[in-house]
Amino acid sequence: MSKQSAVPAASAQPAAGSTTQPLRLAVIDLAGIRNNVQVVKKLVGETEVMAVVKADGYGHGAVEVARAALEAGATWLGVADVDEALALRAAGLQAPILAWLHDPAASFDSAVRNSIDVGVSSVAQLEAVAAAGSAPGRVHIKVDTGLGRNGAERSTWQALFTRAAELQGEGRIEVVGLFSHLSNANDSEDRAQLRQLDEAVALAASVGVEPPIIHLAATAATFRLPETRLSMVRLGIGMYGLSPFDDVTSAELGLIPAMRLEGRVIAVKRVPADSAVSYGYTYRTAGESTLALVGLGYADGIPRLGSNRAPVLINGQRYRVSGRIAMDQFVADVHDGEVAVGDRVVLFGDPAAGHPAVEEWAQAAETINYEVVTRIGPRFERRYTS
Ligand SMILES: *Cc1c(COP(=O)(O)O)cnc(C)c1O
Repeated sequence: MSKQSAVPAASAQPAAGSTTQPLRLAVIDLAGIRNNVQVVKKLVGETEVMAVVKADGYGHGAVEVARAALEAGATWLGVADVDEALALRAAGLQAPILAWLHDPAASFDSAVRNSIDVGVSSVAQLEAVAAAGSAPGRVHIKVDTGLGRNGAERSTWQALFTRAAELQGEGRIEVVGLFSHLSNANDSEDRAQLRQLDEAVALAASVGVEPPIIHLAATAATFRLPETRLSMVRLGIGMYGLSPFDDVTSAELGLIPAMRLEGRVIAVKRVPADSAVSYGYTYRTAGESTLALVGLGYADGIPRLGSNRAPVLINGQRYRVSGRIAMDQFVADVHDGEVAVGDRVVLFGDPAAGHPAVEEWAQAAETINYEVVTRIGPRFERRYTS
């Protein structure tokens, strides 16, 4: 690709040979996804791996990620709601799928018809699954062991398990699993939740419900608390190559970050010292300088809190967002750097390849890596490499 020099007169011209790269691009590394599943498979041995692909695969594309994960040895898929599960079935995925978060008015007919396992947190949900479809509905009973969110409250376990035993006896449901979700508050709290789950398993058995699959751990406990792996782990963030821990990097876990987020330089201009940049004039150039305009903004999920803080990489050089991030665009002061219209801008990717880490954006935006990747907006084109 020929390089234009950074002169204002040419700033609106697209660079030659630049037409194949879209303005907003998320490159998803499916080999990375497969690596990450294999790393976890090796760690957990006989324990099954559920690939969690809710929220469109944490922004990476649910169908493509699910296929890659299954190729790499995951045996289950997990999503939040039944609609997400139906989309996977519609794409031809036949692995078992569990959906655990439901519309209060959900009928579960399409779930049962499409062999989607339903996580149930109440007798009402259990009855709704039993009433749905013609085949016995497959359920995983979800118990609250201390997180205080989804899952049946302890005082309701006896009634829930007893009704599940009756409905299973009548052939209207099949209890496939019993599960819970951890708070990750600390190891001792997580161990206390594991003991609660053990009590739920014992109580269910005492009324004749003995589901074959007991599951508790998501990514964090999969790595940190081996005793929580049980029959299956539900692998989300780690599959995307990101660490759930503040104090441990992806690379230290053997994981490869699978998303590289790219924009393009859409204009460059040379400006004098003390030039103000973007809304509110929160940034001024220190000396004569070159400003690169990048065609990404908060409408694309680029957090506005990254203004004046977050890193970008252009032509192998790191710069910082300069001034406020706007809806569709932001500026990077590249000083005397060689930057031309059409140049690729990497916001984050794999630090092993020299890219800023998504955690740098998360820190700049006072949030976590999960939120940054999941909020990537619909104007991004996703391209897959394998
Ligand atoms: C999202 C989710 C997971 C995956 O969590 P990660 O921390 O991303 O691995 C597992 N289980 C449940 C119930 C979830 O909602």
